[in-house]
Amino acid sequence: MKRTHFALIVGLLLIFTCSSWGFLVHRTVAQLAIYQLPSSMRAFFWKNRDSIVSQSIRPDVRRNTDKTEAPRHFIDLENYGDSAAWKMPLTKSEAIRAYTFDTLQKYGYVPYVVQDVLQQLTDAFRKGDKDSILFYAIDLCHYIGDANVPLHTSSNFDGQLTGQRGLHALWESTVPDQLMNGYRLRDGHKAQYIADPATAIWESVRRAHLLVQPMIDAERAASKETPDSIKYQMVHRYGRDMKVYTAAYGKIYGAHLGSMVQDQLLHTSDQIADFWYTAWVNAGRPDMDALLSQPLTKKDKKDCRMERKAFRKNRLIEKNLLLSRHQPGWE
Ligand SMILES: [Zn+2]
Repeated sequence: MKRTHFALIVGLLLIFTCSSWGFLVHRTVAQLAIYQLPSSMRAFFWKNRDSIVSQSIRPDVRRNTDKTEAPRHFIDLENYGDSAAWKMPLTKSEAIRAYTFDTLQKYGYVPYVVQDVLQQLTDAFRKGDKDSILFYAIDLCHYIGDANVPLHTSSNFDGQLTGQRGLHALWESTVPDQLMNGYRLRDGHKAQYIADPATAIWESVRRAHLLVQPMIDAERAASKETPDSIKYQMVHRYGRDMKVYTAAYGKIYGAHLGSMVQDQLLHTSDQIADFWYTAWVNAGRPDMDALLSQPLTKKDKKDCRMERKAFRKNRLIEKNLLLSRHQPGWE
């Protein structure tokens, strides 16, 4: 859920989740990105894959204790004026001059956060600081994920302005939870150097924003053909009864969305790989194997090869290798 305080005050909470993209997708895209890295980066990221994948939701958890964290996860473009996605400055310093930082904190600024964290990751690579590299690689992975979610780019962030409250979690959590097993989790992409990261992340934000209306329309169409008895169920959570969307409705809505969620998932994982790689190149291509406490063993190398093969053949789920499926909550 994008803004937890909002979720707490609504009488009709349509679905509960404390994440964005949902734990499942944030973690899945992190794992998929690792397999797209070149061999010089691969061993380090692969060896740390458990923590990269499980902690990819950490910035959402941080919001519970840090009041300044929430606006780092979204951008309510409509509040920045007409066609803001195409008119806003590409960089944060220009945006602060144009709007003030208070405004950015009010309406969100995720594309600028991605650029800041990319720089922090680059600095960490340059210093060869293993813990910082992991920390910022994980944060970068999360914020890129959020920038690719349509409702993270809109003031109609939960469908509340169009009578579709709960749409946020329905799209980013319920649908992939139900349909991920049928998704294609590979598109042939390999990590590429991004010469202009500011433009690249803004292109993703525009792409996500253009999906807002289609996802709204698809829910209306799904809703029309679905009786409330199939659409909702009552659950008891946090000492109260709540009306939530059913798994069955997630499937129905997913069918109306076509490949939209899968496509955004793939685009996100590709971009994460590109940004990790770009930070490493800009840092002067440091020796990542030197940062491993010990070199990969024969078994490690074999496991890594086997996973990459499963990834290439889109068999990670079939072979029970998708780590997100084994990590139900926050550890
Ligand atoms: Zn988030």
